[in-house]
Amino acid sequence: MGSACYRIPYQTLWSHLFDQCSSCGVDVIFDIHVEKIVIPQVESQRPKVLSNTGNQFYGDLVFAADGHNSATRELVIVNDDGSDDDSIRESEIFPKLDHWNSCRMTISIANMRLDPNLKLLAEGNWWTVWMCNGCFFTGGKEGEDQYGLNVYFSNPQVKIHNMEWPTEVCDSAKLKKAYQGEYEPNLQKLIEIAQSFHSSTQKPDVLSTFTNENYQVILIGDAAHAAMINGSHNAALAVEDAFVLGYLFSRLASKEQISVFLNGYNQIRSKRTKMIRESDFALLHTLS
Ligand SMILES: Cc1cc2nc3c(=O)[nH]c(=O)nc-3n(C[C@H](O)[C@H](O)[C@H](O)COP(=O)(O)OP(=O)(O)OC[C@H]3O[C@@H](n4cnc5c(N)ncnc54)[C@H](O)[C@@H]3O)c2cc1C
Repeated sequence: MGSACYRIPYQTLWSHLFDQCSSCGVDVIFDIHVEKIVIPQVESQRPKVLSNTGNQFYGDLVFAADGHNSATRELVIVNDDGSDDDSIRESEIFPKLDHWNSCRMTISIANMRLDPNLKLLAEGNWWTVWMCNGCFFTGGKEGEDQYGLNVYFSNPQVKIHNMEWPTEVCDSAKLKKAYQGEYEPNLQKLIEIAQSFHSSTQKPDVLSTFTNENYQVILIGDAAHAAMINGSHNAALAVEDAFVLGYLFSRLASKEQISVFLNGYNQIRSKRTKMIRESDFALLHTLS
């Protein structure tokens, strides 16, 4: 990958961030669903967030971190089709990034140890890449007891159920069948003994701005980016967004500066996410 990277369980990262927020006095409310964000017509008024519990929350700014299937994104893409994004040079020959699907499988290391060939994979601390015809797989240990296997393939005809992070019921027998093929024997065995399958489609929206017109709604994390799902940059991009916003807003001296700082946020993050998207795109085509 060309730089240091860390493999951290989702739960560990989540707990760390939650503890950090709690220690700064951030009030976190669980088990409510945001149903609507109301943007006032008059800029001097504050936006309102409506929840399924009937609560209304007001604030100067709404930071929307509602993930891959963000509903808030609609507020930002009203006038944004990403068409001024001329630096993204997705090839006409290869399928576009949003035509790619991926599936993440998990395999028990204990089961891998029962097979002499898989045992070698289970013992190494390296990532293995299987380059196939029109798709590719990556695999590596995730902690001491689990091996993660990702498949990336492009087929606009295949409609994949786009799963959120929390475990959902999925027909693993059906998915297992979908990903089986004439692959390298170790890879075939891994698919056969995989225990969980988590599928995602890539996101089509390429935003040229991450804020709404009057700078009251700001997208961060997966809500903002169109990086490759199951790639290596997604969580890092979310942390970078937060860092950039934190850095800029720690210097805020007046309300008038908000739009200037958010313009800066848009410019800094657009440049970075375009670079990541191009790199992800190149990776997909090189490996498949
Ligand atoms: C199976 C899988 C494997 C992954 N592997 C990697 C990896 O190896 N490396 C990597 O960097 N990234 C990986 N990712 C991506 C990584 O998890 C995301 O980039 C990261 O979680 C983004 O953080 P986020 O806060 O933007 O969104 P999320 O973590 O998705 O959080 C969004 C939250 O918003 C909540 N939400 C959504 N809508 C509403 C609403 N209307 N009201 C209230 N709450 C709402 C959701 O319930 C969710 O809790 C993976 C993702 C998946 C699904």
